[in-house]
Amino acid sequence: MPEQSPIHRCDGMMKRHEKNLALFGGRPVRETMLPYGRQSIQKEDIDAVSDVLSSDWLTTGPKVTEFERIFAKTVQAKEAVAVCNGTAALHTAMFALGIKPGDEVIVPAMTFAASANCVVYLGGKPVFCDVDPETLLIDAEKIQEKISPRTKAIIAVDYAGQPCDYDRISEIAEKHHLPIVDDACHALGGTYKNRPVGSLGLLNTFSFHPVKTITTGEGGMITTDDATLAGRMRLFRNHGITSDHQQREEQGSWFYEMVDLGFNYRLTDIQCALGMSQVKRLPGWISRRQEIARQYNVAFTRIPGIKPLHVRPEVSHAYHLYVIRLDPSLLKEHDRAFIFKALRAEGLGINVHYIPVHLHPFYRTHFGTRPGLCPVAESAYENIISLPMFPRMTDNDVTDVITAVDKVTRSCL
Ligand SMILES: *Cc1c(COP(=O)(O)O)cnc(C)c1O
Repeated sequence: MPEQSPIHRCDGMMKRHEKNLALFGGRPVRETMLPYGRQSIQKEDIDAVSDVLSSDWLTTGPKVTEFERIFAKTVQAKEAVAVCNGTAALHTAMFALGIKPGDEVIVPAMTFAASANCVVYLGGKPVFCDVDPETLLIDAEKIQEKISPRTKAIIAVDYAGQPCDYDRISEIAEKHHLPIVDDACHALGGTYKNRPVGSLGLLNTFSFHPVKTITTGEGGMITTDDATLAGRMRLFRNHGITSDHQQREEQGSWFYEMVDLGFNYRLTDIQCALGMSQVKRLPGWISRRQEIARQYNVAFTRIPGIKPLHVRPEVSHAYHLYVIRLDPSLLKEHDRAFIFKALRAEGLGINVHYIPVHLHPFYRTHFGTRPGLCPVAESAYENIISLPMFPRMTDNDVTDVITAVDKVTRSCL
């Protein structure tokens, strides 16, 4: 893949602007690195965790049920099942749907590998679908072409925090009797037509990794309105065993049965206490993310050569990521690699989300995927950059990002 190209100046001749770049020894915009995402931990979080540490239950206790209840209420779903990370949430969702060898599941190409890996864990085949060029969300019109008699589900990913076009996806899914799984790891706190993310798919999965909207260190959740699926998922996260430790304690019984092959995917009470404390601050954090995005949007209309992704009017964007696209008609070949290194040198901990999943060696080797399969995702990958975006960023941090982006892109024009 072309990412590893050597540092390349935009022009053979060193321009006046270029000499100021930190990459070439100029003064950086920031002395300290601003990460692209970061957790917010306050005293109340620490207190909540330390209370659990001195309680009777460190895992499989009352905090798990409480966190599940609060989380379900937050996203207006009937059930929430806590698991140990977002990848386990996806695996658990695929198990609940009964995915088995030979089954196909449609997955967008522009996502984190875990969105597809969960299908492979159960012997299924992820069928990669291209994305919309404006939003980089799964292209509803292209889902249709990917459906075969073996298709068992559609995984929609709310990339960057923008909910997918669920009305259109549901139309197609209903026509073919397919369930929708929303990989909502980016989009906690977002809405689609005023309906909260977490209530949009039959199953909806979340991650509580520190870069995500709320954190439990590691953690995950699946939400659904379907009690039967929730039951299957509670079984799966606990070895496939019919009762958990707390239930046996309450019933004064030692008896249990393992009825299916599950895993130990449990989330601890320590983590659930942290999650409960975090989720209380969700609305404020989403407003702050949206405010930062607004400042970026305004500033970037004045900077030629870059463009934020399109946001559709019917959504409230959760802004896990703020992604800009470099305009290939203004910025020449190799410029993303150059701009990436130059922005890092200015002190921005920027990132690229994502290398299209079907281009990873694992998928090329085992599923025969190759470049050309999802051309929109592939060409987007060449010119996207994720800028710093997290609630605790100060207005000065935001200004630094804008200054650095302006400085670096102008040196390339
Ligand atoms: C973070 C993420 C995951 C995986 O979550 P983990 O908690 O890191 O396992 C899955 N899908 C998407 C889209 C993600 O961003």
